[in-house]
Amino acid sequence: MTIDSRMLIGGARVDHDPDHGLPVTSPVDGRELAVVADATPAQVHDAITAAADAFRSWRKVPGVERARLMHALATIIEREADELAALETSDNGKLLRETRTQARFAARNYRFFAGLADKIGGRTVPLDAWDTFDYTLREPVGVAALVTAWNSPMQLLANKLAPALAAGCTVVIKPSELAPLTTLRLADLVAEAGFPDGVINIVTGGVEAGAALTSDPRLGRISFTGSVATGEAIQRAASATLVPVTLELGGKGANIVFDDADLERAVPGAVAGIFAAGGQTCIAGSRLLVHDSLHDKLVERVAEVARAIVVGDPTWERTQLGPVASERQRARILEHVDRARADGASLLTGGGVPDDASLAAGSYVQPTVFTDVSPSSALAQQEVFGPVLAVHRFADEQEAIEIANGTEFGLASGIWTSDVSRAHRVARELVAGTVWVNTYRYSAAQAPFGGTRKSGHGRERGVEAIDEYLATKNVLIDLSDEVRDPFSIKA
Ligand code: NAD
Repeated sequence: MTIDSRMLIGGARVDHDPDHGLPVTSPVDGRELAVVADATPAQVHDAITAAADAFRSWRKVPGVERARLMHALATIIEREADELAALETSDNGKLLRETRTQARFAARNYRFFAGLADKIGGRTVPLDAWDTFDYTLREPVGVAALVTAWNSPMQLLANKLAPALAAGCTVVIKPSELAPLTTLRLADLVAEAGFPDGVINIVTGGVEAGAALTSDPRLGRISFTGSVATGEAIQRAASATLVPVTLELGGKGANIVFDDADLERAVPGAVAGIFAAGGQTCIAGSRLLVHDSLHDKLVERVAEVARAIVVGDPTWERTQLGPVASERQRARILEHVDRARADGASLLTGGGVPDDASLAAGSYVQPTVFTDVSPSSALAQQEVFGPVLAVHRFADEQEAIEIANGTEFGLASGIWTSDVSRAHRVARELVAGTVWVNTYRYSAAQAPFGGTRKSGHGRERGVEAIDEYLATKNVLIDLSDEVRDPFSIKA
């Protein structure tokens, strides 16, 4: 499929200058897929101007019409889902079966927020004085900057764009330079859906373009998904403009298996936590905490599954683990493996590059399991963003909670137990934005998602997400005929 790799600014496709191109390569086979623009600060400025201009009329478009356009977009995404999935897989190496699901999840997200677009209302506020009338308006914050990571571009974008559009914001989107293609394809789809020019703008590029976008004082909201280091840089930049920021950052998910867990379900749950998507998800259950009584049995079963995982081309139906996103990312993962060994963890399986010559051109890593991992070691504390599992053992519930909460992150976690009281009790104790019980990696458009601590702040999905794009305005009307004393306005 040939893709129009030009940016979208004010309804026009904008090409890059010859010296401002960024090659996009596939992690599957190293092939160059496209050359996209490395947007200059001036182009980013233009995109924000276009969004600000469009906001003047878009904010007055009734919710029912915004919803209609969003449903139209969802229908087009559903129609194009397989093509979008193939494009995303070639771009970021994720399994085709996962990107297909993600395309449909994105469509579902647009529909969910379309359903909210005409239900945004304020409230009347009873004041102490009878002869007043007070009410609130919930208004769109203006232009939102939406900056996404490479690991799930369609889904991450839908998490932001759907509530932003429903709220009545206009947007400037910047996808990751490592996987920008489905976002650029969206430019065609929003035009087909009928969104007015300038409501949705797309710029491409790396750090410089991202920094130009997120330091602009004209924004009403920045919503960012990516690494902690970039999140910190964005929040620092926003401290100068005071633009509010939503941050969806990294994680070090604890998947906790208690002694009363159903192992038949916990083993695939542990595997899904770390090897689905090659561990390249913020919600990865990259720490498996296992009760002493089950430890050896469970770990051996997880390792058995890991050894049998089919590593290969992500477009093959039988593949279970595709490549990681880039050579750089693979080198980082292998550094983590070396460090874990040096720190005294026991390597149960994996730890290297598959020795299959047909995979040599891609960025593949073996599914890897480490046991005897110290909770204070780098492998237990740092996000690897690859298929590397750290196993800890615990003696009782309290110790499990302490290990689980003992990182600087707080994004997602899992509990495996058949004791309903324990499930609720531990769910309350875990420092995390999401707690799954007897499942892992289950996402829904209706369920709010986000983190705490270094995993970020703010929520996406769920009715909560729309609040990130709305501001409350209070309107107070004096109903009396009184001429007020200017020095003693009523409380
Ligand atoms: P990254 O931080 O390197 O890049 C993310 C985006 O930020 C890219 O578009 C990049 O170009 C842009 N960027 C880089 N420097 C910038 C700057 N100074 N100002 C503004 N923008 C800038 O992250 P990544 O490697 O693409 O993604 C991996 C990370 O994303 C992991 O840490 C992962 O946990 C996290 N992630 C979080 C979630 C979540 O919802 N919490 C979901 C997916 C991924």
